[in-house]
Amino acid sequence: MNISARARGIELSVTLALDARAKALMAAGRDLVNMAVGEPDFAAPPEVQGAAIERVRSGNVRYTAAAGTPELRAALARHLEATRGGPWTANQVVVCHSAKHALSGAILALFQEGDEVLVPLPAWVSYDEILRIAGARPVHVPGRADLGPDLAAVAAAITPRTRGILLNSPCNPTGYVWSKGELAALVELAEAKDLVILSDEIYRRLVYGERPFASPLEVSPAARARTVIIDGASKAFAMTGYRIGFAAGPEPVIDAIARLHSQLTGSPNAISQSAYLAALQQEPPQVEEMRLTYQRRRDLLLDGLRRLGLPTPAAQGAFYAFPNVSAHLNGAPDSGPFCERLLEQEGVVLVPGSAFGAPHHVRLSYALGEDRLQEALVRLERFLTTQ
Ligand code: PMP
Ligand code: GLU
Repeated sequence: MNISARARGIELSVTLALDARAKALMAAGRDLVNMAVGEPDFAAPPEVQGAAIERVRSGNVRYTAAAGTPELRAALARHLEATRGGPWTANQVVVCHSAKHALSGAILALFQEGDEVLVPLPAWVSYDEILRIAGARPVHVPGRADLGPDLAAVAAAITPRTRGILLNSPCNPTGYVWSKGELAALVELAEAKDLVILSDEIYRRLVYGERPFASPLEVSPAARARTVIIDGASKAFAMTGYRIGFAAGPEPVIDAIARLHSQLTGSPNAISQSAYLAALQQEPPQVEEMRLTYQRRRDLLLDGLRRLGLPTPAAQGAFYAFPNVSAHLNGAPDSGPFCERLLEQEGVVLVPGSAFGAPHHVRLSYALGEDRLQEALVRLERFLTTQ
């Protein structure tokens, strides 16, 4: 069969592919520390599980409206009012199968052939590929030395074809949290150049004190007309496999995403919609407990990596460490061979930084227990001393 040019050019998600490889090796008996995938190791809170089970038992597990149930859309509108400010209506929110699905819907609704979209680096693996599926061109913008955003470089990358920018704070893979000043400067630039801001806020709740999370909507009233928020249940509520998320923004965009999804995927999972509604309404105490646990793990891992001599930016959010391993590349142009050797020799699975546009770095997820993090540090130390 002939595979379309569109599909031929698309890579398998590196993070998901590495995770699958690690799981297959573990199933075959290999003792690995799998730090590849960014996925909470906790179970979803009991309130969430209970709501899902109740929905199944009710027998009412049928298609819902393609844009999500009115109850969940209304709950999300209230949640947005409480967390990002301003009035929100249910029509400004579309429930999606996941944040990834919300992101692809928003990109398909907003961008097309010939459009350029700015992607500040380092950036999550899926942005480029989803933009390419939509026919748009991702334009990489290098970051600062501390891996924060370089707004002068962002401004310099704008051409008459630039239509938007992908903002991800806290950032996967660096954990960088944009300051209010940086966000205000970005909104000003977006206003001046008529750009859409796609704000991926999936790690919004996972910040560790130094700098609070802010959405562009909180720093400037001008942001509201040109921002689409992407968020979901995966990270904050440990609901990755439930596959549920949302996009929020001006009604015409939300309506366009809902129409696209009504044809492409139909209504979001009814069970997961009930589970997400319970999470939002009941705010389970585990959410804060998980955040505090990630914070302890982050401190442990950052400290350990720095003691091993690896320059590691201070991750203020999400659950990744992103050290620079350029001193250990043995002449290789990127950290791919480093990660392969580490996997072979010590069974530690990391993601090469080239997947995120930072080839001298590696990404370690700390969404795993402290004993496994300690074990990873022991193995990494042994590995580095034999290089
Ligand atoms: N955005 C970022 C930055 C992510 O790391 C992830 C995690 N896969 C997502 C979006 C998508 O989350 P999900 O599809 O599980 O809702
Ligand atoms: N966001 C996670 C990661 O970056 C999940 C994997 C994915 O969806 O790519 O590892």
